Amino acid sequence: MRVIAGLVRILIVCLLASLSRECIAADGPRQRSILVLEEADFRSPFYLEIFAGIRAAAKRNGNAHTVIFGESLDLARFPGQDYEESLIGHLKTKYAQRPIDVIVSIGVSSAKFLQRRKQEIWPAAPVVYGFVPDLPETRALFLPNSTAVFARVRPAQLLTAARAVVPDLTRVVLVGEAWKNPLTYGHWKQDFAAAMPDLEVTDLSGAVLRDVRKQVAALPDRSAILTSAMYSDGEGTYYSPAAALARVAENANRPIIITSDTFLGRAGVGGFLLLPEIIGREAGELAMRILDGESPQSIAPFGGNNVKPVFDSRELKRWNVDETNLPPGSEIRFREPSFWAQYYWHSLIVASVMLVQALMITVLLRERRLRFVAEVEARQRMSELAHMNRRATAGEMSVSLAHELNQPLAAILINAETAQQILKHPTPDLREIKDILDHIRRDDQRAAEVIGRLRSFLKRDPTERRELDLNATVGEVFRFLSVQALTHDVELVTQPSSAEIRVKGDKVQLQQAILNLVVNGMDAVAHLPDDRRRVVGRTSLADGNLAVVSIADTGDGILADKVTEIFKPFFTTKAQGMGIGLSIAHTIIEAHGGRIWAENAPGGGAVFHVSLPLAAAR
Ligand code: ADP
Repeated sequence: MRVIAGLVRILIVCLLASLSRECIAADGPRQRSILVLEEADFRSPFYLEIFAGIRAAAKRNGNAHTVIFGESLDLARFPGQDYEESLIGHLKTKYAQRPIDVIVSIGVSSAKFLQRRKQEIWPAAPVVYGFVPDLPETRALFLPNSTAVFARVRPAQLLTAARAVVPDLTRVVLVGEAWKNPLTYGHWKQDFAAAMPDLEVTDLSGAVLRDVRKQVAALPDRSAILTSAMYSDGEGTYYSPAAALARVAENANRPIIITSDTFLGRAGVGGFLLLPEIIGREAGELAMRILDGESPQSIAPFGGNNVKPVFDSRELKRWNVDETNLPPGSEIRFREPSFWAQYYWHSLIVASVMLVQALMITVLLRERRLRFVAEVEARQRMSELAHMNRRATAGEMSVSLAHELNQPLAAILINAETAQQILKHPTPDLREIKDILDHIRRDDQRAAEVIGRLRSFLKRDPTERRELDLNATVGEVFRFLSVQALTHDVELVTQPSSAEIRVKGDKVQLQQAILNLVVNGMDAVAHLPDDRRRVVGRTSLADGNLAVVSIADTGDGILADKVTEIFKPFFTTKAQGMGIGLSIAHTIIEAHGGRIWAENAPGGGAVFHVSLPLAAAR
């Protein structure tokens, strides 16, 4: 029984042991801690950025979770032994249950505080000093188990910046804290005097802000204002340094050289600026190395890379500063963005729209050109066809033309023979001779007209559009065909409208179209008895803006289902037909913006209508 009880006990112990091991494993090692002690107020932008830098370093470098505590000592605004004693009591109570692994001390006041009181609260914690100048006085403050990263704007750097901005500098005006902190600012005045013996120094540090504002408004040329951070003025009024500086800048008539990144944009032209975020990051990185096991003594204090020449582009412009004079590696902020950078998207959209538009115009121009070329080609083809058609018609008509020419030629011959006879007489009647010669001249003109008409008919004129009298145009066609009509015993009748009808077009082409219709009409009546062979040409106005030519015949009419087909090229019902007359007429009329159609008249025969826009209606 005892043996069993012993075994159970052993089992319980083992179980508890394994459980506690698991608990430890779940809890993990204790989290590491950094305490940041700042000399001033955490809420000022400069210290806020330092703290942000420390936090960023802890986040990036830590192998384990690190908690960061922060305390603003604010000793400048709250001096005196009583406050310090109460502060010590407060910190002791507050951190009694919170062991601190590393202290990051920011600023000289904080270093001094640790030198006085660290032993009482955190005797074993190593210290990283940040935002302290590399001066023997500062190093004297460092405790044994510590290291440091220095940060300081040297007076020589302030002068370099001042000279870059005011090349012929003769006077510097010092504006800032009442130099209560000799380790940070105490050397400035002597340093400036030493750096440039012939430089005049006006020291307004520690003056009342009101007076400073008054004085900086009337500074001589060739001077520059050098500033440090002003936390309080000679009256003991506390300020946020950036706000105090902005008030100085409101009145200043000379450029202001500043020392902190957090002032740029609010006051001052720029200078060698402390970069608080980097100051914090550098100190934070040191703290993390110590947390990871490095001994502080093994890390020698070193100068950080936390000061950089930075300038405000707008202020540089205001003071006409030549940018090439600025210290090498200077950064220029607040540059006005270039037009391209400012309107990048606008420009891109406008450019795209213009490009698309240009493309569309190009495409449209190309299409227009192609269309134009096609139109010219079509016209050429049409003109060629018309020419062929005219030749065919002319061939058919050669007989009647010969007849028409015969008349005047025969008359000329008779007149000439008569004149010869008269001249044989001893006293010839000269009046008679003159008369005969007049006749000969008239007949000759008639013959020339006939030939001229034929020539112009056969000639392939380039298309030209002129305003013309439609009645006269149709009349000429009928006159031209009158001989042929006579030979075939066809009666040609014209019924012109009483009003003048003017259309715009190519006379030869329009006459060609009408001629084809009349010739077809003559063909259609050819087989009829003599008294029924008739073709009538009529012109009229329709709808107020159209001219209509109708060619009607007394033939058998058009086959009912072919009324539209007859206009197709090579459609013919004639043994010798070519089938192009109507298709040419159709092409010509359409090219003139008109319409051509055919129908059968109720009383028999076919009627072809051509409608054309009136010249005035175009
Ligand atoms: P073609 O006269 O050489 O046949 P067209 O193109 O001038 O060529 O005419 C085509 C066809 O239209 C003719 O063959 C004919 O059948 C018909 N046609 C044309 N005009 C008339 C008309 N006045 N009366 C009846 N049919 C016609």
